[in-house]
Amino acid sequence: MSKQLLAFILLFSLIGSIYSVAAAEQYKHSVFPFIVAQESGDKTLLSNDQPLPVNARILSLLALSESSPEQAREIQPKIIAISDNFNRAERYLMSIINALLLTDDSRLEHHVNELLSAIAMEDRMAKSQLVTPDFAKIHLILAELYVKASDYDKAYQQKEIYIEKYQDYRDQLREQRLTKLNKKYETDLKVKANELLKSQHELKALQLKETEKSTQIQQRNSLIFIITAIVFLVLLIRQFRVRSILRSLSNTDSLTGLYNRRTLFEQGEHFVKQYADEGKTLSVIMLDIDYFKQVNDDYGHDKGDQVINKVATLGRETIRTRDVFARLGGEEFAVVLPATQLEEAKAIAERFREKVEQVYMPDIEQMVTISAGVANIVDTAANFDDLLHAADQAMYQAKAAGRNQVCCYQG
Ligand code: GH3
Ligand code: MG
Ligand code: MG
Repeated sequence: MSKQLLAFILLFSLIGSIYSVAAAEQYKHSVFPFIVAQESGDKTLLSNDQPLPVNARILSLLALSESSPEQAREIQPKIIAISDNFNRAERYLMSIINALLLTDDSRLEHHVNELLSAIAMEDRMAKSQLVTPDFAKIHLILAELYVKASDYDKAYQQKEIYIEKYQDYRDQLREQRLTKLNKKYETDLKVKANELLKSQHELKALQLKETEKSTQIQQRNSLIFIITAIVFLVLLIRQFRVRSILRSLSNTDSLTGLYNRRTLFEQGEHFVKQYADEGKTLSVIMLDIDYFKQVNDDYGHDKGDQVINKVATLGRETIRTRDVFARLGGEEFAVVLPATQLEEAKAIAERFREKVEQVYMPDIEQMVTISAGVANIVDTAANFDDLLHAADQAMYQAKAAGRNQVCCYQG
């Protein structure tokens, strides 16, 4: 029987020392959060689920109680002196310290009861705190006290509770580490995601800048293109105008604005060809201002120009749209009348002559008249030179007959 008891005590001590080492290993992790909580002074917000803060001096005394009990016994009364303000966790630990520093075995029952009172508070304390080595060792100490009292069943029960708490504590630690790792992983992941997001933002900003730049370049190029096109268009229009003015200048007489000799011949030949191809008849009137030299001599060259211009205006009023009226030079004019018979042309020449005869020229006393000769192509050779020459002959006939009259070429 005594051999069995000895074996039990040995097993008991072995388990106790194993758990003491484990407890010491975890010491830092178990107490640290509570010290922090105490230092922050936040006691009001704590619930049964939350660990209670523990005075650092109590924790030091607890450690000292195991490593150097003599030294601990000297400090113990000082801590007990301030025990009025202790919370449940601190009272819990103090009961452990008191049992550890037990000197008198006669007070064994008292310490067992003190430890049991502490255990009775457990339902109002956080489980996470109770499973930590500092708190859980209460069962080891209690078991030792039961062994001393030879109550091995209760000692065994306390050991079992201790082992259970230790398992819970390990689980709790594993969970904490896992949570910590998860948090770290999530944080790392978030940091990476943030960096990625930042890079994407920078990339987008760069792309935006590039797009803006290319848009600006496109707009600038478009503007340059439009300006160039406008300048080109303006120059082209100007060029056309200049060409058209030059052409009109080369086609017209500068004093009267009538067609000049060159255009008259071009048009005349064109109508002669039409006559040859299509049989359309053609007449020509030649006319010359009578005694014009006298006008120049009496009233000056400028007045003479005014008379030439006046005759040109009257001629323009008299001839039809399809007729070609030209100044041949000096005070000589010619009219090409397409698709016009001789008689019809003569009538037009007569109207023209009458108009000139009736015109009033200020400052000129001399009467302004014209002599005209009319010819039709049927009476001449089929070329413009001959037709014009025939009209010229008729005109000289009119001059010879006394001027201010119209004569026809008879062939
Ligand atoms: P006729 O009745 O026989 O035609 O007599 P005329 O005096 O008109 O005779 P002539 O044809 O010889 O004279 C024409 C004059 O016209 C001679 C010239 O000095 C003048 N003359 C020619 N061109 C111009 C011109 O552009 N302006 C002016 N003011 N006179 C011109
Ligand atoms: Mg003349
Ligand atoms: Mg004349």
